[in-house]
Amino acid sequence: MIRFYALILALIWAFTASAYTVVIDAGHGGRDAGALGLVTKEKHINLAVALALGKMITENCPDVKVVYTRQTDVFVELNERAAIANRAKADLFISIHTNSTAAGTKGTSVHGTETYTLGMHRANDNLAVAKRENSVIMLEKNYEQKYEGFDPRKSESYIIFELMQDRNMASSVNFARNVQNQFQQTACRVNKGVYQAGFLVLRQTSMPSVLIELGYINNANEESFLNSTSGQQKMAQSIFNAFRQYSRK
Ligand SMILES: [Zn+2]
Repeated sequence: MIRFYALILALIWAFTASAYTVVIDAGHGGRDAGALGLVTKEKHINLAVALALGKMITENCPDVKVVYTRQTDVFVELNERAAIANRAKADLFISIHTNSTAAGTKGTSVHGTETYTLGMHRANDNLAVAKRENSVIMLEKNYEQKYEGFDPRKSESYIIFELMQDRNMASSVNFARNVQNQFQQTACRVNKGVYQAGFLVLRQTSMPSVLIELGYINNANEESFLNSTSGQQKMAQSIFNAFRQYSRK
């Protein structure tokens, strides 16, 4: 009889343990290329790292379900990305992007990784990143209605983020710090830190969520690293290590 109860308990554990879901969101895709480098586009780097990360989690964490917002080069609207995570009742949302300075393909010496959580834009630099990433909604039909008049180019639009209370903030920041530390330790990248900014895609998710900027696509060295299979593997490995360290509660 004790064995029977042990079996039932094991089954309950297996059932509840398998309930942990991670959504991996490869930024941009399809007609939205994201930031442009000299030899590649942001959307391709994001997808390669997202797929590599998902593979590592699937192979090493049988208790975790991986859901992707896209697995191919297709356009997915921002609010649909968040809706996918909400429908999946995800426990963690990881949005993967690649950064660029305003100089674009002219190039920059700026380099390094940043990880963002949703929050107030205290610095103008963070606002610039949020504006650029949010501006993709202008490629969607009826974006003004869908996002309730939000104009991604106007600073005034971002006031809404200052009024928000994010109950997932502590968990999000915790995971973001793990990610940044791992980029430094595992992938030998320059850690530019954890920041908060007003990202629409994070605003609409109802679980701990981060937006990662893997590096600057308009920095020639960083672009060639991020465009290489070994570089993409190291970035995925870093996020995977951070996920393993993160308390999944
Ligand atoms: Zn992006």
